[in-house]
Amino acid sequence: MKGVTVAVVGAGGRVGATFAYALMISGLASRIILVDVEQARTEGEAMDLSHGLPFVRPAEVRAGNYEDCADADIILVTAGAASRPGQTRLDLVARNIAIYREIIPAITRRNEKGILLIVSNPVDILTHAAWELSGWPVARVLGSGTVLDSARFRTLLGVHCHLDSRNVHAYVLGEHGDSEVPIWSRAQVGGLNLLEQCPTCGPAGCSPEVRETISRQTSTAAYEIIQRKGATFYAVGLAARAIVESILRDQDSVLTVSTLAVGDDRFPPVFFSVPAVVNRSGVSRLLPLATNEEERAALARSATILHDLARDVGLIEPPRVPWKASLASTPAA
Ligand code: NAD
Repeated sequence: MKGVTVAVVGAGGRVGATFAYALMISGLASRIILVDVEQARTEGEAMDLSHGLPFVRPAEVRAGNYEDCADADIILVTAGAASRPGQTRLDLVARNIAIYREIIPAITRRNEKGILLIVSNPVDILTHAAWELSGWPVARVLGSGTVLDSARFRTLLGVHCHLDSRNVHAYVLGEHGDSEVPIWSRAQVGGLNLLEQCPTCGPAGCSPEVRETISRQTSTAAYEIIQRKGATFYAVGLAARAIVESILRDQDSVLTVSTLAVGDDRFPPVFFSVPAVVNRSGVSRLLPLATNEEERAALARSATILHDLARDVGLIEPPRVPWKASLASTPAA
């Protein structure tokens, strides 16, 4: 049986195990391989998950190693240290790059055709590092980016407007982190632009106070959750499952994944989130950035922060090429 294989590196941890659970329930994969340095805990997760198999679609769920990643269609990486209370995502960078220097070559030595989906933080820098360490084209190395932040933004707007969050079209772009940019200028519900008309605020659109509150709640959500329960893992598990679904079902979904963004002369080429079309080839194309001037300037600031950090930790400068060509870029190019 060929079927679809998804490997999860870091599966002994909270995000990896939660993603595996969401993936198993979705029925998208025939084989889910759990890899982690913590062998015993990973075996425990595999046993616990697999005992639920009679209640979902048939699949094999087991603990494995890098040899088992050889045929994986997608390798999701959540391995690394998690944020501690008071610690920013960028504080984690040196520690997690060192971990990536071990695990990405261990995967790509055995697998030439898969798609790497990076979730560990800081996700933009680690997606850049994974692209560099893998030697794979940009299209096949993507990060979960602001897919989670966009979901938080949509959830908060749905609550504010008393509407189903699935009917809210709104994006957070840029860094998955402190400099992220909620794109209010294009936030819509039922075709209404929320800056022009809001079902709750009225015909003048969302007030500056409402915008400030929702933007702040979106960008500080992870800190608030970590302060209360020590980690975030359910929503990110579902966000990663949604990205995997778009890949495996060749959906052409527009998702704000972290990828090589080279679309604007005013910011340096960096890995961060822009609206991207995700399908069986990974990132298949990027959509033009639809923002106002203020948002564009905020994105340029976000890009500069990440660009400087990538340089400071010794990552190579990605090429400045047209968007279409950027997806074929490899570190050697
Ligand atoms: P965790 O500590 O529970 O799990 C991390 C796992 O990585 C552990 O099981 C650990 O054994 C494993 N690991 C460490 N070094 C390894 C190595 N060399 N090889 C294989 N496995 C290794 O942490 P968590 O709460 O699951 O978070 C995981 C990562 O996801 C963190 O970096 C966190 O910041 C990030 N995260 C990202 C998002 C997002 O939206 N991108 C959201 C939440 C958390």
